[in-house]
Amino acid sequence: MGSKVYFVSANVPIDYIPRVPPTKWYTHSLVYQTKEMAGKLLGEIISPGDTVAVKIHFGERYTQYYIRPIYVRKVVDKTKELGGKPFVCDTLFSGGRVLYDEFGEALWSRRSLKEGLETAAMNGFTSETMGCPVIFADAPKGLKSVEFDINGTFIKKVYIAPAIAEADILLSLAHFKCHDVMSVGGALKNIGVGCQSKQGKWWIHHNAKLEIDQEKCNGCGECVSACPANAIILSNGKAQIIPEKCIDCAFCIDYCTQGAFKSRSFPDILEQEARIGEAAAGIVKFFGDKCVFINLAMDIVPLCD
Ligand code: SF4
Ligand code: SF4
Repeated sequence: MGSKVYFVSANVPIDYIPRVPPTKWYTHSLVYQTKEMAGKLLGEIISPGDTVAVKIHFGERYTQYYIRPIYVRKVVDKTKELGGKPFVCDTLFSGGRVLYDEFGEALWSRRSLKEGLETAAMNGFTSETMGCPVIFADAPKGLKSVEFDINGTFIKKVYIAPAIAEADILLSLAHFKCHDVMSVGGALKNIGVGCQSKQGKWWIHHNAKLEIDQEKCNGCGECVSACPANAIILSNGKAQIIPEKCIDCAFCIDYCTQGAFKSRSFPDILEQEARIGEAAAGIVKFFGDKCVFINLAMDIVPLCD
């Protein structure tokens, strides 16, 4: 069955305010209308006490086009008005090593919980500003998932971040924008990539497990120590991955100075988009009809936020 789709215009007629009572002046606001839309959508499925995962993207360091925090706060407020228990969440990025730039700041935005929470706070997302818990749904390291078989053409299972999987309702609040790897980002990407742990993200962007180029490996052993799954051994002075132990987290890649890790196949954009679509459909199926999607088409930029 198709979903109901609603549209809210950001266009405000010039005579809007004279037409509404003075006490309703704010109702032209897109923030207000997003809150009301969330209420309309949630109101059809929520029961008092339901836990609601408000999935957003916290943005990256030094970016400014992620969803403005006030939109998220108002969706949270509406969820609480309806008796729900919201939390705002994102997930960690693949890899695990924290590197620093020349100013001593973490180079990446969310490879570890610490840098992820710092990025979220820097961009305005804290428990205080949101009025509810602000978390990484696959904390502390992005290594744990709730696996769900979907048997798609490209994706056989999804790896849902545990805190999201435990929620009663998934509310995707996505910023629609263009993207440097995918063509666009919106609800599909916010769910298909963003609701998955590191293992799930791997299978969006790759179609084979990681391998080690034996010519490039110098046997330093850094990857052996870094691997959280004990999936790498040194044999005859070269690193070898034990595939059945590997959980596709990509920690090891960050630690190799020789560029010895190679993923055999990096699908083209169309296949990656198909993978995202399959994963998103799988996660929606996991939640049944307990999903709500809101896309904000504003501040649309050519690259990801
Ligand atoms: S970190 Fe790289 S060079 Fe060192 S053992 Fe692992 S694969 Fe080989
Ligand atoms: S070998 Fe697999 S489990 Fe170990 S760090 Fe690399 S990707 Fe992660």
